[in-house]
Amino acid sequence: MAFSRFKALEKILDREPVEDVSDYSNISEYFGINVFDSKTMRKYLSKEAFDEVTESIKKGKRIDRKIADQIASGMKSWALERGAKRYTHWFQPLNDATAEKHDSFLKIEDDGESFEDFNGEMLVQQEPDASSLPSGGLRDTFEARGYTAWDPASPAFVFEDTLCIPTIFISYNGDALDYKTPLLKALNRIEKSATSICQYFDKNVKSVKSTLGWEQEYFLVDSALYQARPDLVLTDRTLMGHSSAKDQQLEDHYFGAIPQRVKAYMKDLEKECFKLGIPVKTRHNEVAPNQYELAPIFEETNKAVDHNQLTMAVMKKLAKKHNFEVLLHEKPFEGVNGSGKHNNWSLATDTGVNLLSPGKKPMENVQFLVFMVNTLKALNEHGDLLRASTASHGNERRFGANEAPPSIISAFLGSQLTEVLDMLEKEVPEKEMTPDKKTQIKLDLGKIPEILADNTDRNRTSPFAFTGNRFEFRSVGSSQNCAASLIVLNTAVADQLESFKKETDELIEQGYKKDDAIFRILRKYIKESRRIQFEGDGYSEEWIEEAKRRGLTNVTNVPDVLKSYVDGKSLDLFERFNVMTKSESKARYHIRLEMYVKNIQIESRSLGDLVVNHILPTAISYQNKLIENLRGLKELFDEDTYEEVASGKLDTIERIAKHSSYIRSKVPEMINQRKIANKMDDIEEQAQYYGKTIKPMMDDIRYHVDKLELIIDDEIWPLPKYRELLFTK
Ligand code: ADP
Ligand code: MG
Repeated sequence: MAFSRFKALEKILDREPVEDVSDYSNISEYFGINVFDSKTMRKYLSKEAFDEVTESIKKGKRIDRKIADQIASGMKSWALERGAKRYTHWFQPLNDATAEKHDSFLKIEDDGESFEDFNGEMLVQQEPDASSLPSGGLRDTFEARGYTAWDPASPAFVFEDTLCIPTIFISYNGDALDYKTPLLKALNRIEKSATSICQYFDKNVKSVKSTLGWEQEYFLVDSALYQARPDLVLTDRTLMGHSSAKDQQLEDHYFGAIPQRVKAYMKDLEKECFKLGIPVKTRHNEVAPNQYELAPIFEETNKAVDHNQLTMAVMKKLAKKHNFEVLLHEKPFEGVNGSGKHNNWSLATDTGVNLLSPGKKPMENVQFLVFMVNTLKALNEHGDLLRASTASHGNERRFGANEAPPSIISAFLGSQLTEVLDMLEKEVPEKEMTPDKKTQIKLDLGKIPEILADNTDRNRTSPFAFTGNRFEFRSVGSSQNCAASLIVLNTAVADQLESFKKETDELIEQGYKKDDAIFRILRKYIKESRRIQFEGDGYSEEWIEEAKRRGLTNVTNVPDVLKSYVDGKSLDLFERFNVMTKSESKARYHIRLEMYVKNIQIESRSLGDLVVNHILPTAISYQNKLIENLRGLKELFDEDTYEEVASGKLDTIERIAKHSSYIRSKVPEMINQRKIANKMDDIEEQAQYYGKTIKPMMDDIRYHVDKLELIIDDEIWPLPKYRELLFTK
């Protein structure tokens, strides 16, 4: 029997509070204690092995097999000391989860002697039977094998009793089946192209890394209530539920105090993150009730992505201890804000310069402008592909409501920076600059740091906003892997930087001075990317009209949004940069469509079951109670009085009957539509059908269920209500 609503509510009242055990003193004593980081490696590895790993991390060099044995042996000793009993290759398949296949260290010799075994081969490569992970047709069914291969750049760690080794995941034929493989390739490309641009300004720059600081939003729901909501258990979202009389209209949650119970969870979570070397820093309430956010200090992108994946897993595991469930779905509740994941992105040199932060000298500001303008140009060229990287069934429900950036991709710069670009566009003359003009520009550039320092412009409606020293991409969904959008962003910017370099060098060859050449090209780019600059309200109707005039696309339907993955321009971009072959891109497109279909299918099935097994029986039983009551009244009163007292009840019975019979006929209709869709061979057609036919039917059924919830006796309503899910502290 399902866990009933009232049992759940009782259970919450009976609960002992979870003790706040986290001691916050001396973070430095346990920060990274569960990570095989370079400090620990130095202790557990020979100098030879340590140097080899360090070299491999820096230059992506392959690690010699003999050395791998040494590293494995050091890693094993450390992990056993940290309490690990088994090890796993830890990777990120294309379903936004992380996958693990645990193996025990235990090995038993022929003579029955047992010992802990872990060697270089086990560290470097594994062959998990991965036939149940999405491959988008890249792996023949008879060839279920995939390979995982160690990524030394992301340190191994111990979580609970398992040594986890971050790996890439590829098919037998070498096609990427994960996020990490193309991400590493994209990062490699941006490193090369950005470094070569930096050489214009500072010959000491030897490498440039992409940086990522994610902000993770999530909901907490009491675990007893969660168990009493089969839709949450199966789909991570409420498929029905009338809005609570109070939700976020008072806007009192955002700055409100964090409830004690939640605080205890957060502290526990943060401590666990610290032990795993994840530098979490800020936590606060979000806009919706029971919604929260966690954000770390930014890191190099590959590591930051792994840390986000790991944080999501830790969040879920630890929540149970505190009698919570974490909802990472983008839109778990109708009528209140959904959850996103802001990706703060920038580029940093090995000399310690943030390339999206203006410097003190005019020349540093030229460099800043080069990266700024090229990023805008990249967004102008590949905005549609960037949007596609965030498309999912969950995020589709979040977009459009006044809470998430619109599906039109644009960039917000703030008025001051916009002025600087205006100045650049206007003031640079066609031919060579006069000395006066040059002085003027230098003066203007000199002002950039000042004007940005007090740039308090904030625009929360823009999907891609400059926030003083980084861009914040806000369209990513809370459950998604950050890598999807960072693969696109870094590849697109790398592409742009290479074009910039080529065009600038051509001008220099024609005899232009370096500065003149740079400004000329920048000016052209500023002009070409004007259309994606938008400073106004991204939620407004006017913007939709304006964007149309500017030729910006505004697609919301996921199967249409995803098409950008396979248009000629995107296929070419990824292939040219060796980030993904055409068939890898197509496979990704295929998988995303498949996930869209499967998720709506699961939601639709869950809804059907809930309606038939929970809602309709409840409606009938309340209806019968009213009918019974009417019979009694009829016996008691004369006809005139009866008519007077019965009318309201008759009306209620009628409304219950109407909503119920509507639902009763719609559920089988929805099942029939699913049958039609499931017979389709073409995944594009199927996804369109699920999105355009079945999804609206679910919303329609829900509308009537929510009406019933308002009418029916609270005493017998089977599912925890919004006010309980959202306000239980
Ligand atoms: P806000 O809510 O104003 O966006 P937060 O402090 O919640 O600010 O989040 C800001 C995020 O941006 C943090 O994760 C921070 O580490 C990150 N960040 C700051 N500078 C950079 C940078 N140069 N590159 C990438 N991320 C950055
Ligand atoms: Mg933010």
